[in-house]
Amino acid sequence: MGGLVAAVCARELGAGVLVLEKGDRPGGSMRLSGGYAWRYRDWERFRTECPGGDEALQRLVWERFDDGLAWLRRHGAPILSEDTGNPLTTGVRLDVEQLPAVLAEQAGEVRLGLPLEALPDGVPVVLATGGFHAGTELVRRWITPEADELVLRGNPWSAGTGLELGLAAGAGLSAGLDEFWGRAMPAPPAVVEPGGFRSLGQTYARFARVVNARGEEYRPRSWSEIDVAQWIARQPRGRAWFHVADAALGERVRDRTVADMIASAREAGAPVERRDGETVVEVVAGITTTLGGLAIDTSARAADGVWVAGADAGGISTGGWASGLASALVLGLVAAESALGHAG
Ligand SMILES: Cc1cc2nc3c(=O)[nH]c(=O)nc-3n(C[C@H](O)[C@H](O)[C@H](O)COP(=O)(O)OP(=O)(O)OC[C@H]3O[C@@H](n4cnc5c(N)ncnc54)[C@H](O)[C@@H]3O)c2cc1C
Repeated sequence: MGGLVAAVCARELGAGVLVLEKGDRPGGSMRLSGGYAWRYRDWERFRTECPGGDEALQRLVWERFDDGLAWLRRHGAPILSEDTGNPLTTGVRLDVEQLPAVLAEQAGEVRLGLPLEALPDGVPVVLATGGFHAGTELVRRWITPEADELVLRGNPWSAGTGLELGLAAGAGLSAGLDEFWGRAMPAPPAVVEPGGFRSLGQTYARFARVVNARGEEYRPRSWSEIDVAQWIARQPRGRAWFHVADAALGERVRDRTVADMIASAREAGAPVERRDGETVVEVVAGITTTLGGLAIDTSARAADGVWVAGADAGGISTGGWASGLASALVLGLVAAESALGHAG
């Protein structure tokens, strides 16, 4: 998302642009996402939800998000809904099936299947490789020793190239390298494939008793249950068990009931049992996108000649969750403008 936005913006500002895309299609995790691009309605709420984030960067994303959306609309972004469905937030639901092609068409030359492996000399570069959720060694190093157990819930190409190239160019690290956005997912033998990334999410920890293999319990703290996914990732084998009383089966999370979500886990093949009058669902942490990364300033600059957009930049959602699509959008615009010497 961040790279395509930066490319379109840079072309608009008169630059020649080359986009290198490691994957076999443009759009990365954005193409797999729910498409909800949003900001917290209230600035104070953003700070409360993500207290460890860099305040100046958060302010940048929060203040420029509405203009960023207007920019997307001007570039033909297809919008499915003018609402996020979450009273805490304001934004839209983008049509992520169409958006990659819409942006790629305006992004200049996009070379697919061609990973960036080294920084070119003498030209400004915007790193936007989507963080390191698919880089098992980096996940083990920064997030959890249980990295091999985690289920990949994002694009398979974002393995940390941006982070490594940025550091080699002299960039620093942001706060929150150990944080990620993810979901509790049905545990093996369930197989979680991209088509099930969203529909198989088990997001009812607040209505369950959450227990690890040692019998230790965890109480969810956040509306997004990001803390639950992070806690599960650090438990033995990246696993937990959701114990659900019958009375909770009818509770709703957005458009699904707890019973619907349990049925999806059962159908996918996860261990789901009746035990002592409860339904017990085995879940594993699914990693969607990393939240820590390169440290940037408010011009999205990380080092000489290197700007960063999207999940390669860390320190925005630290301590909680704020829309990754929103930061990719805003930082993509800011990175392109700054790299070309335009004030924001
Ligand atoms: C199932 C799911 C649901 C989600 N739902 C939402 C949601 O509703 N709202 C929200 O805000 N966020 C959501 N997200 C997160 C959101 O998609 C990401 O935060 C966002 O896409 C990050 O943008 P990005 O540009 O950093 O990464 P991406 O969009 O993933 O783009 C990074 C690109 O870099 C490419 N790449 C990787 N390495 C290299 C390399 N070495 N050389 C060249 N190219 C490389 C990748 O192939 C990819 O195309 C969701 C994600 C998933 C997977």
